[in-house]
Amino acid sequence: MKVFKFGGASVRDASGMRNLSMIVSEESADLVVVVSALGKTTNALEKVLKAWLAGDKAYLLLLEEIYNNHQSVIQELFTDKTVPSGKIDVWFTLLKEYLLSEKSPGYDFNYDQVVSYGEIWSTVIVAEYLMINLPGTEWVDIRNALLTDDNYRDANILWSESTERVKKILDFKKKRIYVTQGFIGGTSAGHTTTLGREGSDYTAAILANMLDAESVVVWKDVPGILNADPKWLPDAQKLDEISYKEAVEMTFSGAKVIHPKTIKPLHNKNIPLHVRSFLLPAGKGTVIKADATLKKGIPVFIKKEDQILISLQPNDFSFVMGDNLSRIFHFFMTHGIKVNLVEASAVSIDVCVDDEREKVDALIEDLKTEFSAVYNDNVEMLSIRHYTEEAVGRITDAREILLEQRTRSTVRFVVRTA
Ligand code: ASP
Ligand code: MG
Repeated sequence: MKVFKFGGASVRDASGMRNLSMIVSEESADLVVVVSALGKTTNALEKVLKAWLAGDKAYLLLLEEIYNNHQSVIQELFTDKTVPSGKIDVWFTLLKEYLLSEKSPGYDFNYDQVVSYGEIWSTVIVAEYLMINLPGTEWVDIRNALLTDDNYRDANILWSESTERVKKILDFKKKRIYVTQGFIGGTSAGHTTTLGREGSDYTAAILANMLDAESVVVWKDVPGILNADPKWLPDAQKLDEISYKEAVEMTFSGAKVIHPKTIKPLHNKNIPLHVRSFLLPAGKGTVIKADATLKKGIPVFIKKEDQILISLQPNDFSFVMGDNLSRIFHFFMTHGIKVNLVEASAVSIDVCVDDEREKVDALIEDLKTEFSAVYNDNVEMLSIRHYTEEAVGRITDAREILLEQRTRSTVRFVVRTA
């Protein structure tokens, strides 16, 4: 069996749904079809949540807009609209009831209970549509199969229990195609959780791992993985194949093409991941696999925007590299700040992190008891894998470089945002 994943852009309207159906109907293998919320529904649901939490009745209007959008897709897609339309109504009513009940404590908890509906609605529509032409299709509520802990908004999969359930619920005995939600899971207490924004790729990888899939295909609006963001470097070219390691390094450095957590579950079972275009489904795309060879002489350029460069020195002028190092990173960890780059010398250390201002301010406050701490904001991190001097010149010319770090395979620059 294979796992296909369709992101929000691929199911944003009725023609996207038809296109999905065409792609699925051309596949003869058993399939799990993992689908994200329609278009920008997740963002829209975040706005509903915000208004609702603020006690602003406008949340009802925002919700109405989302509802109308889903109903209009149904109107365009189905000849007999009663079943899909009725099912969508049921799920919308459930969300409305949640929003009318007493507010539960905890932002993250409420976030997951509300924002998760996007994937429920999209998969109901996709499944109903596929059933018309593809008998043997079934809708699955993944919250009954993928069990997580209660770390809302960034829930962790409980692997052994989930694997058992996934194998039982998606057993391919009477069905050939399962349509299910990306991004969401459920706790054993029956609450909904989410796996982090853009987490549907990760869901596809988890299910592939548990079901020993022969491959995963992530259908996107790009022809595959490119060696740069074409909005940045317009002559970016497609990479035919890259290794798991390369893919992890790229996503860690800031490449947005797939969710960073996606690679590990696939690597662990040696399952290839294809990134292909839903606009040009005949194209081969890019495959991420174990024994890939990168095209020779093609540097890979990655930009991570909105960074802060923190510079620390121990107040007592002690060496950074000894005990200080673990103490420093303990501070980062307890503030929930992910480190993107570290450069240390005898008595100073520079750390580049995402610009999450509140968290960084709190961290610096804590660090100041033992370190002198200053930071530069408005910076970005530029990385080149398999760099050449020409490649370096191309992206650093006329840029103010605050930090440079080279290994044999990678060079990174922290530069001021242009
Ligand atoms: N719909 C979710 C999001 O937009 C998950 C996903 O698209 O992967 O973050
Ligand atoms: Mg999405």
